[in-house]
Amino acid sequence: MMGKLFLIGLGPGDGDMQTPQAAHALTSADDIVGYKSYIERLTDRLPHQSLHLSGNGSELARARHALALASSGRTVAVVSGGDAGVFAMAAAVFEAIESGEEGWRSLDVEVIPGISAVLAVAARLGAPLGNDFCVLSLSDNLKPWELVLQRVTAAARAGFVLALYNPASRARPWQLPSALARLREILSPDTPVAFATAVTRAQERIAVVDLAHADEQEADMSTLVLVGTKTTRRIERPGGTPWLYTRRSASEALS
Ligand code: SAH
Repeated sequence: MMGKLFLIGLGPGDGDMQTPQAAHALTSADDIVGYKSYIERLTDRLPHQSLHLSGNGSELARARHALALASSGRTVAVVSGGDAGVFAMAAAVFEAIESGEEGWRSLDVEVIPGISAVLAVAARLGAPLGNDFCVLSLSDNLKPWELVLQRVTAAARAGFVLALYNPASRARPWQLPSALARLREILSPDTPVAFATAVTRAQERIAVVDLAHADEQEADMSTLVLVGTKTTRRIERPGGTPWLYTRRSASEALS
């Protein structure tokens, strides 16, 4: 008997940002597969499931393990933070299906969307995604740094708001300074930049600066860096982080 495979996005952190659909799928699962930190967030509520914890860097192995479990007839949930399809496990699972056992193609696979970090961060800041935007990962684990820089350059030149995922980690300390240096060559020094860390979690931290003063020390593994455009406005607020919004009309962007 074929089982079922759910690919679930758990949202940015706060349990209230997990969708009811994700919660139902988790309760129906026999097995839950994912990073230790995501699974640890769940254990209180899911006492009956077998938990398959894994560390960083073994996405394909984890995907194959989940597919093998589902092929044996079990209902399996593969969990990711944010949305499962955004720099997360869903693509690894489909990569494993494409190159794996023929039978995996007949599995019942359901992808359950989650609130991706870019949406949670934008909501905290105001409405910075009010016009065209571009989502990029600064991780050069699976693509050469040259390609990352090419894409950052093209997106900035095209006038997109940029949402930069995976800006920094202990293993990738120089990439964000390099990207910021490139952005300073293209964009005006007063372009708004937000460093939004661990949004909706207890350690949440948000800094809004301008590009000239953007300091990579603000970023860690839980930070999303959002870079505005010519039409991204900053509204100061007494005693609070300024709001950012990007104007709905982009006609000024051409000037
Ligand atoms: N699938 C996830 C992204 C995983 S990549 C999603 O859709 O959100 C990991 C990166 O996501 C981090 O380096 C950071 O850039 C971003 N991120 C994830 N959760 C975040 C949060 N709560 N606050 C800010 N950024 C977050």
